[in-house]
Amino acid sequence: MALSTRVSALIVAAGRGSRAGENGPKQYALLGGQPMLSRTIRAFTDHPRVSDVRVVIHADDLPKYEAAIASLGICPGAPIIGGATRQASVRAGLDALAQEPPDVVLIHDAARPLVDGGLIGRVIAALDRADAALPVLPVADTLKRGANGNVVETIPRDGLYRAQTPQGFRYGEILDAHQAAAKAGRSDFTDDAAIAEWQGIQVALVDGSEHNYKITTAEDLALAQESLMRDDARGFCIRVGSGFDVHAFGPGDGVTLCGLRIPHTHALIGHSDADVALHALTDAILGALGEGDIGMHFPPAEPRWAGAASEMFLRDAVFRTHDKGGTVEHLDLTIICETPKISPHRNAFRASIASIAGIDEARISVKATTTERLGFTGRGEGIAAMATATVRLP
Ligand code: MG
Repeated sequence: MALSTRVSALIVAAGRGSRAGENGPKQYALLGGQPMLSRTIRAFTDHPRVSDVRVVIHADDLPKYEAAIASLGICPGAPIIGGATRQASVRAGLDALAQEPPDVVLIHDAARPLVDGGLIGRVIAALDRADAALPVLPVADTLKRGANGNVVETIPRDGLYRAQTPQGFRYGEILDAHQAAAKAGRSDFTDDAAIAEWQGIQVALVDGSEHNYKITTAEDLALAQESLMRDDARGFCIRVGSGFDVHAFGPGDGVTLCGLRIPHTHALIGHSDADVALHALTDAILGALGEGDIGMHFPPAEPRWAGAASEMFLRDAVFRTHDKGGTVEHLDLTIICETPKISPHRNAFRASIASIAGIDEARISVKATTTERLGFTGRGEGIAAMATATVRLP
């Protein structure tokens, strides 16, 4: 799926189930000191591939919702008021997204707050080859049908799966399917994949996660509490990588830095577009991942990389991070040269890196320095760049 694909997440939080919490609906029960819903929202707002997050809530819960998101720091879009059933709430959410329709929508239950970035990434990736994607776990227990306190039959569990969320769909298709279901008076679907199936949309199976269970009872909540404490103790892993690159000036009338063309008295010489800044950033991310360097993945000897736009190198490094279930948390770049002047372009450079890497601009730093006319950069023989990448891995 191209990085430009717009992915919206729709979190369904309109249910009235209160078995897990003493007061009010379970999605507002505290988990690790914050409302369950805040954790669920954060899993999606933190994901680099998700462009926006909308939450479907019950009209009565507005104050609770506002309190829940106040703790987040990041604001999802305005809440959407749901309907009488889960199905009606999802449809209300899909209708609301029509104002700014995404390419892809992930529909997720608020009561699955332990969903992780890796699972969200797998669902998005599956939509490359399928119109719909459903995370599942195989059924491990033997299944029985019972009646009046007795076993009636044993159901073969081969090929049976437990369905989870987020379920991923092409936005237009799932909107049409929901509208068709409403028109047909069908209100008995228990998940969105079932509506897609009913409409003949092929739904691909994706590996779910045992951690991503639905919190329904007080026991589930206690279990989630424990596993969060365990995770906090174990922690995720923060890795830092560094990158450095140099390209020499040659004849020409401009240089490419951070993916942008800057007019100059010279060009930078290189096999690709010689974007020294993006090369240093790419190597920094690869360094944090322990995955070699740019030349290993894109050998300069191969003619197909001749004149290549270096954006693809940086994108590839970000993809590798997502593949491991990780995120690029921060990129810090220093460009070293006497000319051209970098400061007038600093904001444009940040925005460009943000858009190439799919990271918030606030997590990108661009600095510049000269070397006081000393050394090769001081003599105006070329441009050097150094970069640091901070990567979070599970
Ligand atoms: Mg280079």
